[in-house]
Amino acid sequence: MNKLIAGGLLAASALSGTAASAEDLATTMGPILATAADPATINRKCDAYVSAIEARRTALEEQTGPATLQKTLAPYDEMIALITAGQGDFGLYQQVMADKPRRDAGADCLVRLATLTSKINLSRPMYDRLKAIKATGADSATAWYLTRTLQGFERAGVALDEAKRARVQQLNEELARLGTEFDDNIANGRKVLKIKPEELAGLPADYVAAHKPGADGLVEISTDTPDYQPVMTYAESDDVRRRLAEIYNQRAYPANDAVLRQIFTLRQELATILGRPNYAALILEDKMVDTPAKVEKLLADMAAAARPAAQRDYEKNLAVLHEVRPGAGRIEFWQTAWLSPKVQQKYYAYNPQDARQYFAYDNVRDGILKLTEDMFGVDIRPWNTPKWDPLVETYEMVDHGKVIGRFYFDSHPRPGKYGHANMIPLRPGIGDEPPVAALVMNLPAGDHSTGLMEHSQVTTFLHEYGHMLHGMFGGHTRWLGQSGVTTEWDFVEAPSQMLENWVYDYDTLAKFAVNKDGQTIPRDLVERMNKARYFNLGLGDMTQLGYANISLQFHQNPLPADFGAATRQWRDQYAVVPAPDWVQMQDSFTHLNGYSAIYYTYRWSKVIADDLFTRFEKEGLRNPQTAAAYRKAILEPGGTRPAAQLVRDFLGRDISLDAYRAEMALDQ
Ligand SMILES: [Zn+2]
Repeated sequence: MNKLIAGGLLAASALSGTAASAEDLATTMGPILATAADPATINRKCDAYVSAIEARRTALEEQTGPATLQKTLAPYDEMIALITAGQGDFGLYQQVMADKPRRDAGADCLVRLATLTSKINLSRPMYDRLKAIKATGADSATAWYLTRTLQGFERAGVALDEAKRARVQQLNEELARLGTEFDDNIANGRKVLKIKPEELAGLPADYVAAHKPGADGLVEISTDTPDYQPVMTYAESDDVRRRLAEIYNQRAYPANDAVLRQIFTLRQELATILGRPNYAALILEDKMVDTPAKVEKLLADMAAAARPAAQRDYEKNLAVLHEVRPGAGRIEFWQTAWLSPKVQQKYYAYNPQDARQYFAYDNVRDGILKLTEDMFGVDIRPWNTPKWDPLVETYEMVDHGKVIGRFYFDSHPRPGKYGHANMIPLRPGIGDEPPVAALVMNLPAGDHSTGLMEHSQVTTFLHEYGHMLHGMFGGHTRWLGQSGVTTEWDFVEAPSQMLENWVYDYDTLAKFAVNKDGQTIPRDLVERMNKARYFNLGLGDMTQLGYANISLQFHQNPLPADFGAATRQWRDQYAVVPAPDWVQMQDSFTHLNGYSAIYYTYRWSKVIADDLFTRFEKEGLRNPQTAAAYRKAILEPGGTRPAAQLVRDFLGRDISLDAYRAEMALDQ
């Protein structure tokens, strides 16, 4: 057992007056991701979590006498911490284990935890106990926690009669199972394109070197991001890009059409039982943008600002296309990523490949850690702890001599591993014990010989790291259920999106971006990169608004007969380059499971991020006072205050779309 974690939990539980259960809480969480675990061990660990959570549930339901913060909210909060830690532990097993049986064991436990959570959310006795708490005189964070918790119970259907509650429980279980099936189909939906070696023309030399022909004389290109993205960006052959885009946009198709149809149908039934017109209305209630109509208005307002920018982008792309493909009538779906560097070269003398040589993974990682140290005055040092793969990296963050957070970087692709990038909170900060989190990413590994990254990959790294900083700095709240990234869901992306600005800052880049000869990235290259940055922003945002539209419309309309056709239509209401009729992206659009109707949150967070960044722009990106104010107002509170209040605390006013509009109006 991890003694440190156990000790911290004991201390916290002793404070909350439930010392008797502390040992069991500590034992349940135990160490993170034992490397030698087999499926049976993972299942046993799951059993321990489930019974520890069940024990708390039963105790709360059977509680009598006056309900108080200490006696009632504290054990409830511990139960929430167990669920969160469990979701982290088993989510990690599902994403990173080397073999399918262990990944499946992780996924199975997530379903069990979801079932349990749904049961808890429908527990009338527990709701009644929490509602009975006399919170008079409680601090505002505690009051907000209680309010949000009770509203959550109400939205889950706690007030329904027994038969309806039973049906809701059934629906939640079925939805959890279907969600896992949807994700699994995507994870197992990797496809491969075989091409002739000469069709790699245009790709960087290191990519070509890493893609040698097989025994049949052909080169294999997979739909995994590190394989797919460079081909879509650099391959000179339209045919290769079109063929690759086609298999990429048909991952998990048609299997997931059937799964999605069931998911959407059950979600609508759930909304109906709960007295809401549709699932979108239900899921939006506890967000900052809290109704479907407000989301539609947001998308329209953003499109009004982005469309003119997108048109300018389109014209520039088309002009370049005409140079290389005389007579081309329009830009095709599989040409946008490939045209982008060409336009950047022509209009801004910027070639992303010029920048690539300065971004070796090892340096980027060190640079990102150093940036945190410089901005926030903390130290980051290696953390000696077991790992599940030799390439996993582990660190701890120290503030004034005290460890305030621990984290894992699982940065590189492996067969079977989760294919995108995300941050997994593993432990909330408990008493003196720091929060723990993992970044799961798919970046190249090593130094300049093997680890060169696109600037966009550097941006992804910093973005995910931003979530982790939020988890670390916000991981010290009184209530575990308000720890870290527990703000309103549609605020969560804002801090990460804001942080992306730093990889366009020369002073930041100059500290880590060096090529293999030790030369620092030239200032004029960074200046050109900045000019090129705003190109395609309009085009890209319009596509993103299209995705947000897909996610919303599937959840507030009768189900279309042809999912692919509806998806393309909803996308193309906003996206400027239309999707060909072989695009079946709904089946690999992972957010349709996890985010359901609320993909707009990424765009809304961008509005907030742009707005938050205005203060850094004024006061300096590396101004430690501003960074300290930001940490205190935005990151440290975690979920203890409404997000709109966090923004007011930092900016001194309400959120505005003005910074976003100004960004879209930039015509470089
Ligand atoms: Zn994010």
